Formats: sequence, structure tokens, C-alpha cells
Amino acid sequence: MGPIGVLALQGAFREHRASLERLGVPVREVRLPEDLRGLSGLILPGGESTVMGRLLRDFGLSEPLRRLAAEGLPIWGTCAGMILLAKRIIGEDTVHLGLMDIAVRRNAYGGQLDSFRTELNVPGVSPAPLPLVFIRAPYAEEAGPRVRVLATLKGKIIAAEEGNLLATAFHPELTDDLSFHRYFLDKIK
Ligand code: GLN
Repeated sequence: MGPIGVLALQGAFREHRASLERLGVPVREVRLPEDLRGLSGLILPGGESTVMGRLLRDFGLSEPLRRLAAEGLPIWGTCAGMILLAKRIIGEDTVHLGLMDIAVRRNAYGGQLDSFRTELNVPGVSPAPLPLVFIRAPYAEEAGPRVRVLATLKGKIIAAEEGNLLATAFHPELTDDLSFHRYFLDKIK
């Protein structure tokens, strides 16, 4: 198995790296197109999607990433990473990678729920309730027919997959729980 890449332009990439290392898998931080060579999977971390989207273009990563996604590279976007994956951002003309057939709303939990922690059963990912951390998180309001919804919170999609793509609105890398990282690695195998 080749290393798992973690996009390291901005945001919470160190935490993903630490989670993967706890699971004993080789990790590579991705900043340049050549860093994509030979990866078995790639994580797009949380951070600021507008900044990360611009850096993806500036560093010449958008096109190679789209190509690898089309070839079946497993890619997991958390929070801002979910926004990077989405084909549509509600209320905005911007699209970043535009790979996954979901329409996301940015900063969807306004006001007091801006950032929060909760627990949820996510069957198929873990038999026990999972701790979920949301930080100025998005959710998906719509999903195309090929998208499989893994978890919803108050009727909104917070985890979903479409073929080789996985998206979560929350941050498993900011908890001790490795279930979602394990789930992603199982997708790769
Ligand atoms: N609010 C950020 C955005 O719109 C996402 C926040 C996060 O990744 N924790 O990009």
C-alpha cells in the first residue's frame, strides 16, 4: 500500500496525520503535484475552503486531483474538505474541485451552534456512538442519486460517500476516536 496523503496547504492537516500514524499507516503531506504520486488515498482537511481552494489552484493541484479522483483514488474531505469536494455551494458561484454530487451550505450552523460537540450512532462506521466535533461546519442539503448518506443530524446530511469519495461535515481527527479513519482505510483496501 502506498502512503495516505494529507493535503497540507492549510488547516488541520497535522491532526489527520497523527490519527493515521496512530493506525500505523504511512502518511505523506501533500503540497505539490509531485507529492500525489503513488498515493493510496488522500485526505482534504478542515480549514478555510476559500483559502484552500485558491491554494489548490495556485499550486497546480486542482487538475491532477480531478484526474486522480476520476481514476478512482479514494479521497476523504472533512469540513472545509467536504466543501472542496462538493459540486455545488449553496448561495455561491464558486466550485472548487466539484467532484461529489452534493450541494453544501457553508457555516450552516450559525449563532450559538457555530461550533459544538455531539454524539451520534453511525451504523456501518462504528457500533458505538461517535463523538462529533463541528467547527463552523457545513452540511449538505441535497445529494444526487449515486450518493450514499452515512449520517444525518436534524435532517441534514453530515456524512456521505459517492464511489471513491467520502465527505464528513465534522472533524474525527480532533477526537480520540479513530473509527472514521479506519472506515476510510477500509474503503482503500
Ligand atoms: N467554515 C469553513 C469554510 O467554509 C469550514 C470550517 C472548517 O473546516 N472547520 O471553509
